[in-house]
Amino acid sequence: MKTVGLIGGMSWESTVTYYEIINQVIKEQLGGLHSAKCILYSVDFQEIEECQASGDWDKSAAILSEAAQSLESAGADFIIICTNTMHKVVDGIKARIHIPVLHIAEATAEELLKKNIHKVALLGTIYTMEQDFYKAKLIEKGLEVIIPEEKHRKFINTVIYQELCMGITEHSSKEAFLEIMDGLGKQGAQGIILGCTEIGLLVNQQDTKIPLFDTTKIHATSAALKAIE
Ligand code: GLU
Repeated sequence: MKTVGLIGGMSWESTVTYYEIINQVIKEQLGGLHSAKCILYSVDFQEIEECQASGDWDKSAAILSEAAQSLESAGADFIIICTNTMHKVVDGIKARIHIPVLHIAEATAEELLKKNIHKVALLGTIYTMEQDFYKAKLIEKGLEVIIPEEKHRKFINTVIYQELCMGITEHSSKEAFLEIMDGLGKQGAQGIILGCTEIGLLVNQQDTKIPLFDTTKIHATSAALKAIE
């Protein structure tokens, strides 16, 4: 079994889910007492969020690259960055290590195509929804991507940083997310990417008919399967 290196803590609320899913998948696949070989480097999210807010992506890339180098030296065979947003600096991280990085958007695109989805809505932080670094990976795979209107993007972003990343799940936020997702379905989205690793803490497939693609589940599952392929 290969050793998964996790760069987590962004936020730690969703890193917990990564750890659970990776171990669950290994247990399902191998049975018995098998569990995942993994190493977690958990950063201080306050520092990362300050870099995001001030646009200092180079500084955040340096922090995450140091984490990646530590994981490589500690024996990780490949790395997963346990957040969608920070894939903005994935190339900077890759340039500083010698082991592969399993990209969250690539894993998600593969899952969408497997399910025959071609037009998809993307929910995430404003960086993920509005900038190109993430959508480009999906478009490269032939997917058509739509995002919520501006006032909804602002609302989703606020809920992510002020509630979900702080471990708060409000019923009113859940209702509002479901309404936004319903509207995106009416605009022709065949599925919704939960493109922020905390959104799955708020809504899940039981809450709606429209197919949901939870990037935390997809990324963690593909990491576990890669570890034993
Ligand atoms: N975990 C979130 C994501 O998947 C947001 C936190 C962050 O900015 O890294 O994008």
